[in-house]
Amino acid sequence: MEVCPETFSEIVHVLENPSIGIESLSAPAILALQEKGYLSSHRPNGVRAACDGCLSDGQQTGITQVVLELTQSCNHRCLYCPYSAQDPGRRYHSVAAMDWDTAKAGIDLLLDSSASVEMPVLGFYGGEPLLEWELMKSCMDYAIGKAGDKRLLFTLTTNATPVTGAIAKELAARGVSVLVSLDGPEEAHNSFRKLRESRIGGYSATMGGIRSLREAYGDTGVGKIRINAVCGPWTDYLALENFFCTNPPPEIAGLEYRLSEVSHSNVASLLGEAGEVGQVGEIVSETKRDLFLRWTEKNATGKDGAGAEIFLDRLFEVPVANLHNRSKTLLGEHLGPMGMCLPGVRKSYIQVNGDILLCERVSERFVIGNVLGGGLDLSKCKSVLDEVVEHFQERCPECIFCRVCAGCPAVYCAPDGMISEEAVAQFCSRQIKNLGEQLLWYVESLNRNANCFDFLEETGVQQ
Ligand code: SF4
Ligand code: SF4
Ligand code: SF4
Repeated sequence: MEVCPETFSEIVHVLENPSIGIESLSAPAILALQEKGYLSSHRPNGVRAACDGCLSDGQQTGITQVVLELTQSCNHRCLYCPYSAQDPGRRYHSVAAMDWDTAKAGIDLLLDSSASVEMPVLGFYGGEPLLEWELMKSCMDYAIGKAGDKRLLFTLTTNATPVTGAIAKELAARGVSVLVSLDGPEEAHNSFRKLRESRIGGYSATMGGIRSLREAYGDTGVGKIRINAVCGPWTDYLALENFFCTNPPPEIAGLEYRLSEVSHSNVASLLGEAGEVGQVGEIVSETKRDLFLRWTEKNATGKDGAGAEIFLDRLFEVPVANLHNRSKTLLGEHLGPMGMCLPGVRKSYIQVNGDILLCERVSERFVIGNVLGGGLDLSKCKSVLDEVVEHFQERCPECIFCRVCAGCPAVYCAPDGMISEEAVAQFCSRQIKNLGEQLLWYVESLNRNANCFDFLEETGVQQ
């Protein structure tokens, strides 16, 4: 909705001087805005965890995904790896591996508690899970036998270096969905992803694994083999665009990829360790802004499905759809706990000792049960939610981004398993910086073309 410059100045004046009170304004344009629900002084009363019963119902029949930590061992030592002993509350690389009883109990948890889920997911994670290839095969065979007619999806997260032709054929035969960690061009990848023994970059070894996978999967590789690239303040997005879209090497041509943000607790120290890599901080923001404006311009003139455009979609589509399709009605009495899932329902991550975590991204001290000792512990799940809610109770209702904030507090605010006020403050200031930046670019684009985001109206909001 457009407002004239005078009305806009009046609104800004009141926002800068809250004691005046928006209700005291009576210009027709402002009354019209208020009639549509804008400029309301209503705020929610607080944050509430979930409906009573959602958690227990979800855990009885709605468990979607169980991920098994087959081993804590890895043949890599990536600089930003959460297991590199730099993150407090995270384990260090060890040689501990899962035993069969624990793996079986994890699979039973999934298959006994997913009656309402169309296709439950059994994931394999590490360390490098392929270092326990025989165990992984046994898990898949047991799960297939137990699931009977029920559809089941297997996923594997791997650096791909242990993939041989024989392993690739067995993965392909079981339709395993493989997510390969590859951070982009050789120099960018090798800056952070080092082999354990030699400490040289693992790019060539990973590409070799991808070649074996593509040969074994044939046409089904597109869709079943995907790439995950970790990005940080060092990422050169133009180089990444060139690598994934404009001039991809034959190994990855046509494959889907996703870009994920590094969650290392001390990103600044990494830049020193990795040497000269990409761009940093403000330059990245500037590059991202240019890419954002290019993205909106292209979409406004019609999508053509070209590679570069897909790259930009990966960068911006989900967060900007959240912003564009935000709820525009009055906020309710309570907010939910931002981007956090119901513990144990969307995902349960089983560690080698059977402890259950919310997912692989949270601190190992955030335990919500043990598969060998009673399974998911409802009271622990509730207390995790209660703890999150307590820390955001006052903040979120007053925050201008409370409609669109979707970060997961369990990951970012509890580095050592207990949510701390200091970590919450850091998390919120990062969220506000990122969301604020996006909002500015979003408004800048709308000012150029009021319809440039119409194409997002079909895109689901990720909450
Ligand atoms: S491959 Fe994964 S588990 Fe291994 S060091 Fe790298 S990030 Fe850590
Ligand atoms: S990152 Fe947060 S929301 Fe996502 S699965 Fe883990 S705990 Fe749940
Ligand atoms: S940035 Fe912080 S205060 Fe604002 S909505 Fe997100 S979690 Fe709440």
